[in-house]
Amino acid sequence: MKNKKRVFSGVQPTGQMHIGNYVGALSLWVENQKKYDNIFCIVDLHALTIPESIEPQYLRKKVKQVAALYLACGIEPEQSTIFVQSHVPQHSELTWLLNCVTPIGWLERMTQFKSKSKKLESVGTGLFDYPVLMASDILLYKTDLVPVGEDQKQHIEITRDIAQRFNHLYGEVLKVPEELIRKSGARIMSFDDPEAKMSKSTGENKKRHAIGLLDSPETIRETIMSATTDSNRETRFDYASPGILNMLTLYQVLTGQSRAEIESHFSDGKYGKLKKELVEVVIETLKPIQKKYNRIINEETYLDDVLKEGEEKATEIAVDTMDNVKKSMGLK
Ligand code: ATP
Repeated sequence: MKNKKRVFSGVQPTGQMHIGNYVGALSLWVENQKKYDNIFCIVDLHALTIPESIEPQYLRKKVKQVAALYLACGIEPEQSTIFVQSHVPQHSELTWLLNCVTPIGWLERMTQFKSKSKKLESVGTGLFDYPVLMASDILLYKTDLVPVGEDQKQHIEITRDIAQRFNHLYGEVLKVPEELIRKSGARIMSFDDPEAKMSKSTGENKKRHAIGLLDSPETIRETIMSATTDSNRETRFDYASPGILNMLTLYQVLTGQSRAEIESHFSDGKYGKLKKELVEVVIETLKPIQKKYNRIINEETYLDDVLKEGEEKATEIAVDTMDNVKKSMGLK
């Protein structure tokens, strides 16, 4: 792993993992897992920033579900480090130390805090401090690269700012990470409102918004067959309505066919045929994932062993970083 760049990615164990997460993230992670030294963290401490919506039993279950889905989608524990954030206490410890060097103004500017806090009656300090916890996640592992989508850019920028400020105050201790701009995966939109992005949180509460990675063939069929299409039902990429374009896009990424092939296949313009075939493609894509998932989730000790091993690998790096951080601050 020595010469490979280290990449840190995290997923919050809340909501329902969906086909958009697979297309836009998991499948690409699997594709790139040999290229990088990957750390995949299930960020359960971040889930606690909105405690009202998270019950202990729910969180426990979701952590296992996300871990099992990582493995079922093809992440290999022999190649990558997979672990749960709260199992490595150095995340919280580094957060406190970084809090002490982070100006409040930097956190007040975060747009995600502004939009999330607007919806809440009472806003916890954890939600405000979320970016510092995220910076700790990244900096703890001497991360070279962080994959970022448009909505995450501010988070990597603040992580870099915090690392640079720390290094300015205490010496060159923290590695300043770069953004990993990947050949962007397709962005999958909601099936009931194709103007909105498919998302884990909405998918959990709203039927027909998303296709969950664990949805049954019947549910997948219902969701796709009742998807919003609008009155313009052209089955050509450049002329399709947002709903049809979303289906064409999903069909394209899952089959690997070119636009021309797809347009010629659906040249009679019958969007009903597109829906029916997409149903089959999605069911076939998810079948092996669900089969593997069911095997893993029912083998309790296997998952625990994988997470334990990941915790040990992560802890080794985290302890070393904390040692350097504490020495530089005079805590050791
Ligand atoms: P939430 O509703 O909790 O914000 P989300 O579904 O938007 O969740 P994230 O946890 O923000 O998902 O993202 C996990 C990964 O999945 C990220 O790499 C993100 O780019 C990717 N991703 C999320 N939604 C989509 C989508 N609709 N299409 C493609 N990729 C997506």
